[in-house]
Amino acid sequence: MKPIASLSLDLDNQWSYMKTHGDAGWESYPSYLDVLVPRVLAFLAERNLKITFFIVGQDAALEKNRDALRMIAAAGHEIGNHSFNHEPWLHLYSKSEIDEEFDKTEAALAGITGKRPTGFRGPGYSLSQTVLDVLAERGYDYDCSTLPTYIGPLARAYYFLKSPAMTDAERDKRKKLFGKFADGFQSLKPYLWDMGGRSLVEIPVTTLPILKIPVHASYIIYLSTFSKLLARAYWRVAVELCRLTNTPFSLLLHPLDFLSAKDSPEVGFFPGMSMPVDEKLQILGGILDTLGSRFEVVDMKRHAESVREMSITAATPVRASIEAGAYL
Ligand SMILES: [Zn+2]
Repeated sequence: MKPIASLSLDLDNQWSYMKTHGDAGWESYPSYLDVLVPRVLAFLAERNLKITFFIVGQDAALEKNRDALRMIAAAGHEIGNHSFNHEPWLHLYSKSEIDEEFDKTEAALAGITGKRPTGFRGPGYSLSQTVLDVLAERGYDYDCSTLPTYIGPLARAYYFLKSPAMTDAERDKRKKLFGKFADGFQSLKPYLWDMGGRSLVEIPVTTLPILKIPVHASYIIYLSTFSKLLARAYWRVAVELCRLTNTPFSLLLHPLDFLSAKDSPEVGFFPGMSMPVDEKLQILGGILDTLGSRFEVVDMKRHAESVREMSITAATPVRASIEAGAYL
């Protein structure tokens, strides 16, 4: 029997990329979902795959997006919570702010699916103990907001320390982020959070075992712009290393993996956007064929179930809490 690999897509919309990039016009929530969603659904249907779409509440709250989002639910894919405002500093929110995000997102998603989501991924891989507490209180089954890599925390610490508007006290606090270089040592394998009587499954986004370099689809497509051969070899090594180290794969997809600058000129500044869509779909097809040859590809919900099943017979690590700022 093949081990399990999960597949999910963070449905970040055009406006959230524009907002992060500081471009005017995001305030009217421009959307590419009508183009993107049918394309992704056809691609998945061809491969008989059911995956998890993490949807931003703000998109689900707007009438203009509802037809596209309902197609996802109608095709039998799982729908998870990807926050309401898609702000990567969600881990700095207070409990009441997080509750408000969740109230609004759950109501908007219920308008699409008729039910509440049971899985969550924070925007920008942001996670805090408060977010975990809110997830447990609301009966969520799993979180998948961690990205074990040395690169992210270091880049963020550098960014914070460079900010000229910062006081010395603030800078001191930020210096602790360098300690979080240790985030790179975080487990790549799923584990459980002990939430006082109940547990929450944590499924990290897979990075390359040992080196902890990203392996998600956007990264492979980006490498392909330099050398398709190299990108394919890197991907095969990643998949084999995960098999060798018994790491269940959790592969992440993004909308830009399915779009070109022609579809959405506003996000044409991203790497790989000059590549034609057909070429991207071919690379993605190759990625999924390799993954499917070594793993059984499922949605996040099924992956979380298998973690719980395995925790009955095997020693699945349980963590009590994350220390403050651990995931900054
Ligand atoms: Zn996102």
